Amino acid sequence: MSDRLCPWCKIGHFQRTPWLYTYQCDECGTATVIEEERRICCIVPFCRRTRGDRKGSLLTPGMEWICRAHWTPIRLERRKVYRRALNAFKDNPTDKNRDIAFGLWGAMKREAIERAAGI
Ligand SMILES: [Zn+2]
Ligand SMILES: [Zn+2]
Repeated sequence: MSDRLCPWCKIGHFQRTPWLYTYQCDECGTATVIEEERRICCIVPFCRRTRGDRKGSLLTPGMEWICRAHWTPIRLERRKVYRRALNAFKDNPTDKNRDIAFGLWGAMKREAIERAAGI
């Protein structure tokens, strides 16, 4: 599948998504799994920036990423609170700490997407 032509609609091509190994046809929207390459897109729609594995930060299925260009417009206070929650979860990986960090991440995503859309 080197050209990533969609076998369903035979018009579209599979494009990277923010989810590891998950690709989506740009024509018919069919999603598929391609494990040949470890890269994910920024979660902001239509952002084509990608990242791969990094030292100390390997990609995992379900992991989400916000590129630098979309990260910096997020309010600093919110980023600080998120980092604190993330560190708390790393130090003490309880369900409660995970839920807190996860909830804050959701708020960061919303803000990144809103800022990108100019809201
Ligand atoms: Zn298709
Ligand atoms: Zn981005």
